[in-house]
Amino acid sequence: MAKIGFIGLGNMGGPMAANLITASHEVSGFDLSASAIEEFKANGGSAMANTSDLVKDVDIVVTMLPAGTHVRSVYTGDKGILAAAKPGTLFIDSSTIDVQSAREVADAAKAADMLMIDAPVSGGTGGATAGTLTFMVGGPDEAFAKANEYLEIMGKTIVHAGGAGNGQAAKICNNMILGISMIGVSEAFVLAEKLGLDHQKLFDISSTASGQCWSMTTYCPVPGPVPTSPANRDYEAGFTAAMMLKDLKLAQDAANASGASTPLGAEAAQMYNLYASSGEAETDFSGIIKFLRGTS
Ligand code: NAD
Repeated sequence: MAKIGFIGLGNMGGPMAANLITASHEVSGFDLSASAIEEFKANGGSAMANTSDLVKDVDIVVTMLPAGTHVRSVYTGDKGILAAAKPGTLFIDSSTIDVQSAREVADAAKAADMLMIDAPVSGGTGGATAGTLTFMVGGPDEAFAKANEYLEIMGKTIVHAGGAGNGQAAKICNNMILGISMIGVSEAFVLAEKLGLDHQKLFDISSTASGQCWSMTTYCPVPGPVPTSPANRDYEAGFTAAMMLKDLKLAQDAANASGASTPLGAEAAQMYNLYASSGEAETDFSGIIKFLRGTS
């Protein structure tokens, strides 16, 4: 049994922490939200008053925070958790953040004699609850080896993608593919509608032909062909348009900083920006098809 501190007990962090508790680890937690703390306590966790007290007496710290600014402020500075923890503590940051922040915080961790990995996830709240997340990990071999048994409790697929920041790099590359492919599949269904081609017929053909992809076969943006896709429940999220926009912006920031040419990623970011700001930010990202039809 390990002593684990968990910071950020929201939609993702809450169920991830619950899985660590179920696996008989002693988990203490901190969040700014009273309701997140109440749920964490109901799941068997012990709440701490602040992050410094939380990290003092644990072997491992997991963070699941909204963005890079939150991660920087929680980790670094005089009151940061890197200053408060015991040397050798293992830090696992599973937040989705920009590559540069991830690398800077990893450098600060190394300088403080700590072990750290960036380990963003895909799989959504369903995967967090079921313990079937995919972890994309960046960081030194020693930290990855130590973290693996805990990641296995929260996830099913764990890939060590290289050095610090490479987990975040993998996450934004993957989600850029997803944003672009969801728009592509949606455009095909909108064109099919105009041409009098039935949704199910297009699905039957494309799902087994060269148009096959996850956005078509698992998360189909029209109701019917894939009963579990959000299209069947009026695009209730799932993965919100706001979150897709966040990841596409991170991808564009990284492309600009590194000089990579990503014109379709840039276009996808623009389209999700327009879609999200038309009152659909909390709608599932596959609802972009409504925007293409001009009905959102
Ligand atoms: P959330 O908003 O539900 O949870 C974030 C939690 O962090 C909140 O409870 C908030 O109170 C807490 N928090 C913020 N600042 C804090 C601080 N300084 N100290 C302590 N707690 C603080 O968000 P979420 O959906 O759980 O997402 C968390 C991360 O996971 C994000 O980076 C997101 O991009 C990523 N992610 C989310 C999903 C998803 O489907 N929700 C999927 C993959 C990745």
